[in-house]
Amino acid sequence: MNQQISENGREENDLKKKEKGSRPFSIYWIYLIILIAIILFNYLPGRSSAAKSITWQEFKQDILPSHDVAKIDVVNKEIAQVYIKPESLKKEKYKDVAKGFLGSVNKGPHYYFTVGSVEVFDRQLEEAEAGFSEKERIPVTYTTVNSWWPNIISWLFPLLLLGFLWFYIFRRLGSASGAGGSIFDFGKSKPRLYEKGKYSPITFKDVAGYEEAKTEIIEIVEFLKHPEHFTKLGAKIPKGVLLIGAPGTGKTLMAKAVAGEAGVPFFSLSGSEFIEMFVGVGASRVRDLFDRAKEKAPSIIFIDEIDTIGRVRGRALSIQANDERDSTLNQLLAELDGFNPNIGVIVLAATNRADILDPALLRPGRFDRHIHLDLPNKQERLAIFKVHLKPLLLDSKVDTEYLASQTPGFSGADIANVCNEAALIAARKKKKAVETQDFFDAIDRIMSGLEKKSKIISPSEKKIIAYHEAGHAIVSWMLKNVDPLQKVSIIPRGKSLGGAWYLPEERQIITEAQFFDQLCAALGGRTAEEIVFKEASSGALDDLEKVTKQAYMMVVNLGLSEKIGNISFYDSTGVYENSFLKPYSEATAQLIDEEVRKLVEQAHESARSILEKNRDKLDALAKLLLEKEVVYKKEIEALLGERPSVKEEAVLAL
Ligand code: ADP
Ligand code: ZN
Repeated sequence: MNQQISENGREENDLKKKEKGSRPFSIYWIYLIILIAIILFNYLPGRSSAAKSITWQEFKQDILPSHDVAKIDVVNKEIAQVYIKPESLKKEKYKDVAKGFLGSVNKGPHYYFTVGSVEVFDRQLEEAEAGFSEKERIPVTYTTVNSWWPNIISWLFPLLLLGFLWFYIFRRLGSASGAGGSIFDFGKSKPRLYEKGKYSPITFKDVAGYEEAKTEIIEIVEFLKHPEHFTKLGAKIPKGVLLIGAPGTGKTLMAKAVAGEAGVPFFSLSGSEFIEMFVGVGASRVRDLFDRAKEKAPSIIFIDEIDTIGRVRGRALSIQANDERDSTLNQLLAELDGFNPNIGVIVLAATNRADILDPALLRPGRFDRHIHLDLPNKQERLAIFKVHLKPLLLDSKVDTEYLASQTPGFSGADIANVCNEAALIAARKKKKAVETQDFFDAIDRIMSGLEKKSKIISPSEKKIIAYHEAGHAIVSWMLKNVDPLQKVSIIPRGKSLGGAWYLPEERQIITEAQFFDQLCAALGGRTAEEIVFKEASSGALDDLEKVTKQAYMMVVNLGLSEKIGNISFYDSTGVYENSFLKPYSEATAQLIDEEVRKLVEQAHESARSILEKNRDKLDALAKLLLEKEVVYKKEIEALLGERPSVKEEAVLAL
């Protein structure tokens, strides 16, 4: 669910377009060269363009008997070129070939025809000349034209092409580095620059929610605006601030807002842009970036995805030890240490994986302030919705609060996406205003892709899908610890053929029982197929993947299995991430596999017993699904009765 609206991407494209426009070079040159080569190949010498092609038969009947031929020249044993005597050229029948280019006299050859083989040609000619006197016989010469053109082209062409590609790639690289197109500027960074009033009109008003983060970050604006307040008292202004949060939680937005509020230039560069295929480029880009920012101080440097350069250095276990990244990081550390804190350059960096950053980056004097941006809670989602709903023309019935409650787990970027998508859907339906249903369609679409009503599904397949989804629905309905079911659908969407939607509850910890019930619900689909059709199908791939991953996580990382006990092999430093080594022994590995197998088997059993007990309900729901394709919570409730777990809780509460 990480759809992000990349503003930077758009600006980058604009930049590239501008660069392209100013350069005369284009791919059309390549087309031109290929075209010329083709033409050259087609007009090889030996086939003078003025000569006319004829057949042996025509030659024998029309030309040979009149004794007009001066000589025949067989070129490369392939083509017989016929030269007509100059005095005979005046004849009417040679009118076509008498004139060469631009009206000059054509010296020949005048006709040509292809020869099967020299021997055959000799014999045929001899037969045709049977009645000729010695003097009337046509002299035949054989020449081999070592045509140099094909030869030259055969070695020149690939060479040219290679040179061309080389040239082209370097141009592209040059422009990709954003360095104005020249390969010699390669090490320079081209950070995107925003200055107040020009590019960054974003202020804290545009950032909804995150009140705590904002109060922390407002201080940075103060540092930039009035550094003397702090330096007067002898305080050092912090240099680096790390924004930590999942993708789309508004880290870039927050950094831009700081620049907008402080009214200072904002240099933004993504971590991956430092790392190029050439060694040393990253370090020189870092240097260049800091030089520019210092020139314009007070200013803000924003480094997005700093984890791409800031990973723990020199990990012995890593298979791709990356010297380039290490040297880039070293340069970054040197730059951070190198400048006087009071010159007014503040470095903001964003990451979603603070755990894998090199500890050296987080030391005092470097990125020592951390601001966490979590996924928004309901109140914050409401605020974000309000920001993004403002520009839309809304139907009066749209309830923003309800929308916020229906989107747990959505990031700010997801919400921005939902709003835009809803407006697009409404526009497509030619509505006057955006309605609640459009928002739900947008949420569905963002969660699982576009509806594909045109996908052809046979009735028997449809039945399997209906039972599969009904299986998920029934099992989850009967279990207390699964998120409440919202709707079930058998309309194909994106890659999936159907689905059950749940409304996740916001919680910070998940209990063992909840994990187990989730496993049961995920296996409900496949189990229903087994019970009804006595065989399984391929339709459970996603479910099984989810189940397997979750079961392994429970056993390996969360200490939720009896035999493994309270041991976690989770590695927050990321050291083992890229290595083939496992942090446990072979015996433990076997035990883990056994435990996972047992867990999944238990979940499968309990899903089976639930479905067998409620076979009538399973049939009824599958039938309803086949009829209506989408079944909502209310209808499920009417069919299955109130959710048993809910009743139970109500009893407990009494
Ligand atoms: P990140 O850098 O954390 O991946 P961005 O800052 O690029 O995320 O956020 C992407 C988009 O999401 C923003 O352009 C904005 O439209 C929206 N967004 C995210 N958080 C918020 C928020 N708190 N208030 C308003 N819009 C937000
Ligand atoms: Zn399923």
